[in-house]
Amino acid sequence: MTRPWNFSAGPAALPQPVLEQAAAEMLDWHGCGMSVMELSHRGEQFGRIRDETEQALRDLLHIPDDFAVLFLQGGATAQNALVPLNLIGRSQANHADYVLSGRWSHKSFKEAQPYGALAVAASSGEATEIDGQSQDAWTWFPEPAQWQIRPDAAYVHMCSNETVGGVQLTKLPDLAQLGAPGVPLVVDASSDFLSVPIDFSRVGMLYVGAQKNAGPAGVTIVIVRKDLLGHAHPLCPTPFNYAHLEAADSMFNTPPTYAIYMVGLVLKWLQQQGGVAAMEKASKAKSQLLYDYLDSTSFYRSMVAKPWRSRMNIPFLLHDEKLDGPFLSEAEAAGLLQLKGHKSVGGMRASIYNAMPMQGVEALVSFMQAFEQRHG
Ligand code: PMP
Repeated sequence: MTRPWNFSAGPAALPQPVLEQAAAEMLDWHGCGMSVMELSHRGEQFGRIRDETEQALRDLLHIPDDFAVLFLQGGATAQNALVPLNLIGRSQANHADYVLSGRWSHKSFKEAQPYGALAVAASSGEATEIDGQSQDAWTWFPEPAQWQIRPDAAYVHMCSNETVGGVQLTKLPDLAQLGAPGVPLVVDASSDFLSVPIDFSRVGMLYVGAQKNAGPAGVTIVIVRKDLLGHAHPLCPTPFNYAHLEAADSMFNTPPTYAIYMVGLVLKWLQQQGGVAAMEKASKAKSQLLYDYLDSTSFYRSMVAKPWRSRMNIPFLLHDEKLDGPFLSEAEAAGLLQLKGHKSVGGMRASIYNAMPMQGVEALVSFMQAFEQRHG
């Protein structure tokens, strides 16, 4: 069966072998006569699925033992409140600092406001000039060397890949080198998870909504250094208290069992593909192909400053926005789906997560070339 290429930003395309395995196991998981959806979350069978999923994640990302891996619900959006509710108590003054680099980190900052005395460590929310080029707000990433971090901040929050703007910081900064040795870095890695290696010596906590690179919607993955736990606000709901979740193996209440199973299948597929290093190499090559083409023509344009162009989400504009409608309908007819850009940015956005093979990006670039010839 050939399927169209799906460039959705999320929920996003899943690897076809994963969908096929899930379909084959739908009615009868490993001979038990039940679907994974029908297994008790407290039973031995689901316990195995959960444990294997966590272990695969630990193996793929080399997660150290002093980090807990939690599976929650509520999406990355719920973490915007749960991060301060769990961690801000580490600071006597309730200080936490935020790096603003686009729509998602800005949303995190807004949602966290009621929980403490927040400050902006750095922001790309205004136009600037980079390498002689003027750059609009949210099309560049604030240089870590410029971040203003309060030494007593409970944490610094950042988003490693802004899904809407297509801005990515692939190398996480070392806050000790930035003069804030005791301050943990909290990273929203929802849209570049498992596509770049993570140096956990630089991370206090990382969270991810699974529906882009890790599986289907419905499960949120939190990876948190255990010594940061135990400071939750008394009003933090127990099912979202990281310390309680860690003590209960993420089973304080019924976890999203099927979504966790699907994440497990994606992780096994990733291992077969060569792991995170292979995904990083592939995503460099895939994104390069598209950016090189965008830079070679005035018919299309990438808006993001070169040093921070995302390898996962590639927004671009057509030189004439009247062509947006024809572009989308002709793309769909050619089997290239969900390319419409976010409404705040306009134009197009190609999301090319791990499950998108090079072939899909080649098909997109060929279509774009042919469209340019027809309409240029
Ligand atoms: N952060 C980032 C970087 C995202 O891309 C998204 C979703 N697109 C979210 C947070 C919100 O995730 P969710 O819908 O799972 O709450």
